[in-house]
Amino acid sequence: MPLAITTENAHELALQNFDTAADAMGLDNDVRTMIKYPERVLTVSVPVRLDDGHIHRFEAYRVQHSSVRGPAKGGIRYHPQVTLDEVKALATWMTWKCAVVNIPFGGAKGGVTCDPKHLSQHELERITRRYTSAILPLIGPDQDIPAPDVYTNPQTMAWIMDTYSMTKGYAIPGVVTGKPLSLGGSLGRNEATGRGCFYTIQCACEHLGLPLMGASVVVQGFGNAGSIAAQLLEEAGARVIAVSDSTGCVFNRNGLNIKELMHLKALTGKVEGFPESEPISPAELLALDCDILVPAALENAVTADNAPMVRAKIIAEAANGPLTPGADRILESKGSFIIPDILCNAGGVTVSYFEWVQDESHLFWEAQDVYNRLERVMKTAFHDVLQIHLNRNVPTRIAANILGISRVAEAVQIRGIYP
Ligand code: NAD
Repeated sequence: MPLAITTENAHELALQNFDTAADAMGLDNDVRTMIKYPERVLTVSVPVRLDDGHIHRFEAYRVQHSSVRGPAKGGIRYHPQVTLDEVKALATWMTWKCAVVNIPFGGAKGGVTCDPKHLSQHELERITRRYTSAILPLIGPDQDIPAPDVYTNPQTMAWIMDTYSMTKGYAIPGVVTGKPLSLGGSLGRNEATGRGCFYTIQCACEHLGLPLMGASVVVQGFGNAGSIAAQLLEEAGARVIAVSDSTGCVFNRNGLNIKELMHLKALTGKVEGFPESEPISPAELLALDCDILVPAALENAVTADNAPMVRAKIIAEAANGPLTPGADRILESKGSFIIPDILCNAGGVTVSYFEWVQDESHLFWEAQDVYNRLERVMKTAFHDVLQIHLNRNVPTRIAANILGISRVAEAVQIRGIYP
């Protein structure tokens, strides 16, 4: 079934994806009305004194798309291009993502329009604490639980947890996930997105009869998600032939040494200049002859313009929304197997759920326990999506949406509606 998508505005796109999946399922109109749109949208002003003494007002958001299946859950993004529409879209995807991996959360997302690369740690702390105060009525361990996203990290979560706890008078670790271990974080959370992505690639390789041993891999975006996925793929015997970050791309046909590359990135903040590699352009990276492409940077990395050049057999969306609808159509018609974002990168929210369970029960698990549970969740979700893809003859992205939407629809129908 073709994807009847006509826009590249992120929220419009999320709504159109919803409609395509809902049409394919024959979803009842009343249920659509109840689950399609965000439940709550909050825009706040965050006035902060900068280090130069002046006050700057940042615009910020928190969107709760759904609380039908449990507390709303979703990361907080700090980026100069954050818009309300982007946050709404990301919140919507979180709802279907949590339902795809069948964890008892709804979807949320937050964002502050700011450029962290030009802010000091003190300024970031003041922004985070003021933003937390502004969204305080919405968040809480039973209401809405933020986590890190692009350019936020465990330190950001620690500041949010502290600000929230100060208003209650005691420590409440369960208000955020992705925290440092010393504040109730979970072992395995840092690697969770890359690890979950790796498990879904293993499943896709099995399904396609493509041995992972010796497979060639290209990773766009060597941050948290991309570097861990690359490391696990290398450990499984794959050859990671090229990786990139925002400053450059490196290539070695025989495979890059990922451990050493991670070391260089940690030391210099760049992959550029890695020994035994040659620099290539971002366009050349996407066009490399490879078995597996992992887009792990930002939205809209592969478009209708560069998709014709992509030759990968498997595209594993570690990032959220890395393929535009135009790219989707082209890659589907070329026969690429797409592991859609709401499945591929759901390992992060899954281990966030494990962290919340551990915080709420005050009992912490060993790393291997976290990995085993994550592997079970991801592989079950993959096979649930695959079954819908094969049985209904729909693209994998629509299959994942159908799975997520059907679980939310079932929950809302059983709950009924307050008259
Ligand atoms: P990160 O900040 O750790 O890494 C992002 C990386 O992408 C950085 O290395 C940056 O240099 C690189 N990058 C930015 N622009 C680029 C470009 N144009 N070309 C190549 N590289 C570029 O972020 P992350 O947490 O790894 O998130 C990456 C993606 O994964 C985002 O879409 C995010 O929403 C998604 N995601 C992350 C998690 C998580 O738990 N970290 C969970 C789910 C989804």
